[in-house]
Amino acid sequence: QVSRDRRGGCCFFRDEMNLQARQALEMERALHRALIEQQFELWFQPLLDLQTNQVRAVEALVRWRQPSGELVPPDQFIAHAEESGQIIELGRWVLKTAVMQVAGWQQVLGRPLGVAVNISPRQLRHHGFVDEVAELLSDSGLAEGALELEITESIFLDVDSESEVVSLMSQLRQLGVRLAIDDFGTGFSALGYLKRFPVDTLKIDREFVCDIHESVNAATLCQAIVWMARGLQLDVVAEGVECEAQLEMLVQSGADSAQGFYIAKPMVAPDVLLTIARMDRDGQVRAGG
Ligand code: C2E
Ligand code: MG
Ligand code: MG
Ligand code: MG
Repeated sequence: QVSRDRRGGCCFFRDEMNLQARQALEMERALHRALIEQQFELWFQPLLDLQTNQVRAVEALVRWRQPSGELVPPDQFIAHAEESGQIIELGRWVLKTAVMQVAGWQQVLGRPLGVAVNISPRQLRHHGFVDEVAELLSDSGLAEGALELEITESIFLDVDSESEVVSLMSQLRQLGVRLAIDDFGTGFSALGYLKRFPVDTLKIDREFVCDIHESVNAATLCQAIVWMARGLQLDVVAEGVECEAQLEMLVQSGADSAQGFYIAKPMVAPDVLLTIARMDRDGQVRAGG
């Protein structure tokens, strides 16, 4: 009886493993093909400077356009690409495409425009990453200080890699690259890492922003993050702004920039310049209240 149960459990477990392994393999093949056939697209979402009321940067967000026409969001494939290592090639394409694109837009706009690019920890630590960034910056002619790399707090979790990561981050900053902590507040790291790692910007996760206008606790947390960032001389970006009331609160709390559907949704490249021109002209909130 016991041994049969065990065997049953074991077989069931093995089937599960097989299924998962098969799915992972299928995904890897699909991603491989997608990379060769250039099925990825970059969408861009504006970041509004709350002081000048102008678009100060755009964040590049990758999507996968399947041959069927279906658009797959990054949450459904980035983790797989990280697992398989394909994030190196995909991330390289994202970075290059985003930087080249925004360097062109800077020329047309005739004013500074930043570009924020999401970087996975594995990509940052991949051999030669800093050199690739340096080369891309000089090839593209992107303005100094215009590239901002976004990385999540998970990079600070691994104590063993700390000195390596600190060194990589310092090298990137010497190139004039700005470093942002994405989804700030949702990771598992202790705040102490802010003392040890060279960063420029905190991006408050939308989890904290979503009820800032309705909940005293949420508003207090956001305000505390802004004050802390001030003290540490970091910029603060609030993500996931979906209504006017949230935006007003963020302006009052002293956040530097805001991003979210209320300001502008992610859009395809051909829409970016017109949208920025319109936003520059019409403004979003009245600066200074
Ligand atoms: P993220 O970097 O935090 O990007 C913000 C996500 O929130 C985007 O989803 C954006 O469309 C969404 N968003 C923006 N404003 C609002 C809002 O007002 N309300 C709500 N509910 N959502 C909003 P998206 O494009 O699906 O990206 C999801 C995540 O995928 C990103 O989160 C980022 O972590 C990752 N990702 C995207 N592109 C890349 C990439 O090129 N490389 C890497 N490594 N990760 C990427
Ligand atoms: Mg991001
Ligand atoms: Mg984020
Ligand atoms: Mg987020």
